Amino acid sequence: MVNRCMLCGRKIEPEEPKKSNPYNNEEDRPKKKSSMGVCTFCQAKLKHEADEAQKIPKPM
Ligand SMILES: [Zn+2]
Repeated sequence: MVNRCMLCGRKIEPEEPKKSNPYNNEEDRPKKKSSMGVCTFCQAKLKHEADEAQKIPKPM
């Protein structure tokens, strides 16, 4: 099963390697939005754009 970014079509690489780490509890970190088909690059871009949109005051 290959995840593809729905924005750029890039293949989404799994961020964390599936290695059993005794110190890495899945409950430790908050889960991402389920099945958000966006690569990390576009996620950062979207977040950045959202931040910018909040920063910029509405032109009157
Ligand atoms: Zn993308």
